[in-house]
Amino acid sequence: MPDFRHLLRTLGNPMARRLDVRIVVLFVGLLLLIQAVSFVTIRHDIGDNARAQIGTELQTGENVLRRLLAQNAQNLYETSRLLAADYGFRSAIASADRLTLVDALDNHGARIGASVSLFTDARFRLVASTSSDPTAVLALLKSQAGDATGASTAATVHWLDGQAFQLVTVPVKAPHLIGHVAMGFPLTGELVRDMEGLTALKMGLLSRPRGGRWTLLPIGEHTQAWQALADQLNQRARPGARDVALAGEDHSARIVPLGGNATHDVAAVLLRSVDEAIAPYRRLQLTLLAIALSGLAIFGVGSVLTARRITRPIKALSISADRLGAGDYSTPVPVASRDEVSELAQSFEAMRQAMQQREAQIKRLAYWDALTGLPNKEHFRDLLRAQLEQARREATPCAVLMLDLDRFKHVNDVLGHAFGDRLLRQIALRLSDGVLRTQDIVAHRGGDEFVACLPCADGDTARTLAQRVVRALETPFTLDDHTVDVGAGIGVATFPAHADDADTLIGRAEVAMYAAKAKQAGVIVYAPELDSASQESLSLLSELRTAVDHAQLRLFLQPKVDLASGRVIGAEALVRWMHPQRGMVAPMRFIPFAEQTGFIRVITGWMIQQCACTWRELRGSGVEIKLSVNLSTRDLLDQDLPAKLEKLFAREAVDPKALCLEITESAIMDDPQRALQTLKRLHDMGLRLSIDDFGTGYSSLAYLKQMPLHELKIDQSFVKSMERDQADMKIVRSTIDLAHNLGLSVTAEGVETGQAYALLRAMKCDEAQGYFMAKPMPSEDFAAWLRAWQAPQTRLKTEFAELL
Ligand code: C2E
Ligand code: CA
Ligand code: CA
Repeated sequence: MPDFRHLLRTLGNPMARRLDVRIVVLFVGLLLLIQAVSFVTIRHDIGDNARAQIGTELQTGENVLRRLLAQNAQNLYETSRLLAADYGFRSAIASADRLTLVDALDNHGARIGASVSLFTDARFRLVASTSSDPTAVLALLKSQAGDATGASTAATVHWLDGQAFQLVTVPVKAPHLIGHVAMGFPLTGELVRDMEGLTALKMGLLSRPRGGRWTLLPIGEHTQAWQALADQLNQRARPGARDVALAGEDHSARIVPLGGNATHDVAAVLLRSVDEAIAPYRRLQLTLLAIALSGLAIFGVGSVLTARRITRPIKALSISADRLGAGDYSTPVPVASRDEVSELAQSFEAMRQAMQQREAQIKRLAYWDALTGLPNKEHFRDLLRAQLEQARREATPCAVLMLDLDRFKHVNDVLGHAFGDRLLRQIALRLSDGVLRTQDIVAHRGGDEFVACLPCADGDTARTLAQRVVRALETPFTLDDHTVDVGAGIGVATFPAHADDADTLIGRAEVAMYAAKAKQAGVIVYAPELDSASQESLSLLSELRTAVDHAQLRLFLQPKVDLASGRVIGAEALVRWMHPQRGMVAPMRFIPFAEQTGFIRVITGWMIQQCACTWRELRGSGVEIKLSVNLSTRDLLDQDLPAKLEKLFAREAVDPKALCLEITESAIMDDPQRALQTLKRLHDMGLRLSIDDFGTGYSSLAYLKQMPLHELKIDQSFVKSMERDQADMKIVRSTIDLAHNLGLSVTAEGVETGQAYALLRAMKCDEAQGYFMAKPMPSEDFAAWLRAWQAPQTRLKTEFAELL
């Protein structure tokens, strides 16, 4: 159960509910991460690659530049050579006129683009020059003299008059070496254009005084942006490739030293636009990005679909779990596919079924009595409430009938609980099958208590139904050879007369039921006095305990007359309680409670003691009679009773034969085996035993035969009505015959009239007891009454005589 709760909580959690979102976020996030890493790596590689390529391009650019310069030098050399071989030029030299020579140099030089031309003799001594100050050129020539034979050296760039030059020297032979023609060509925008045409590089020319700062030479179509370039180059100490910005664009720069002179360096700067170099890779990167994005989109859609597929059954489970949590066990848990989630769903389904079953069982246990299959106490209460609701609406009465079995505890004790349970089942069956009306609801309250709701029943109807129940229980129950009599006390209370709500109604029915049991009255309908009566019984009970000590009990005697002779041969001892405030309390008001609490043993002991004394006294005064004492169930179950009596008789010097013990049928039936044992011992002691109130219980003949009895007392209810009721008369007569057949003496109780007396004598009844002879009287009055006693002279009416 706790696991289930946890599961419910987890599934109910909104975060868990967004599992699909989490799955999508996780997967797309992972993919994004991977792509980002590869993107960064690729970008970095591209940068590296581009830079390496730029480096190569710049290197190539340098090579190209040097080739261009060399080629340029070669061209100049060839041109210069042609010039040197020119006839006019040679004539000019031959003329040895300096001015003519200068003119020729000027003309020819201008023709091939030289800005300075000069002629030296074979030993490099100046002969003529177009420059006003040729010393610097001469110095160059001399320094080159050693190796001034090839065009390669002519590729060197020189610095002259704030200009970068290529200097070409051509020997003039006629046919012997007569001198050298040297021509200086300033580097022009053409070179830059050539470079930029051949390569993807931009180019500028720089010069600086040795150890000084670079300045850009005005060559080509260099804009203002280029001026800033020289400053950037000067800031960087590191030679070789470097990054510069040109017109806001990143460039890699390479400074290619070209030469110079003693005071100045000349160099070319080659620039490669980084952005341009990277541009193809950028396109690649964009393509990659597009692929990545579309991959991401496809992946996103895929993971959303997958997450849905995973979470949909989980959501369904979550809904099912919510339903289960809310107590709905009837809707099955859906099981769709065949994966782990569906396994979980199957487990859920199994759990739901188990819970459904368990709930049904709990409901059954909570509302139905397992033993009898009837509604239980709680269920009955609900049902009664509903019935009262309806009764209120329809303005009809409704009754509650409560029933408590007599002596059931003893059936349980003696015959075992299993037997008791089966008996209860049988009783439940009888109660719910045909005894009551179909609309009546019977419930088992537990133990030996049953309760019924009788819709639309007023007090009278309820009483009639209750009596039907009493009659239904009159037939003994037969279980495994055992015949069991089950008496019951029934209390009835009705709505709206006695109570307005279910609980009070049940409570009132219960009060009536206790009254019925106490009075052994069968059925009692609730009356407000019952509440106070039961209240009174309780206080009486506590006072009863002091009654013996305070000598409030009295012994009353009621004579028993021998019908044949008319002589008084015995008396029944009856207890009275002289209550200081209430006056004389009748035994029926305290004996039942004394029996319930066990206090009856004290009373019985007191009675026997009193009888012993009285018997001795009467004998002393010449009256020899038998005294009968009533025994209750509790007395009969008291194992020590025979021993106690034996002691008492010995002490009081009383003949046990003078005492008769009256035992009711029900007292024997409570525990027949133990009763039989005790009775046998009492019988062996010489005590006379009488069965009291015969006819009210259901003692079977089989039992009576086993009992060591002497006397049978016919219950007064039959005797009193015998004159009016022929059936009762037949019962009395057959009981007398039956008792005589069993060898028992018969006493008739409740003889109130002379006719009853005469009738009983005619029926050969042995003894009579009743108000006709005498009411119970204080024992001290008995001797005087006896002296005045005269046998009644009654004659049987002819109508009765004819019946016999
Ligand atoms: P019971 O043993 O059947 O006693 C006979 C009852 O019938 C007595 O009532 C007696 O007064 C009454 N009775 C006798 N003759 C007539 C008659 O002609 N007409 C009418 N209407 N009644 C008559 P009581 O004394 O009120 O005793 C009631 C019951 O109380 C007794 O019924 C007995 O079961 C119990 N009881 C009385 N004394 C004792 C006692 O000392 N011990 C025990 N265990 N029970 C006692
Ligand atoms: Ca009696
Ligand atoms: Ca009796």
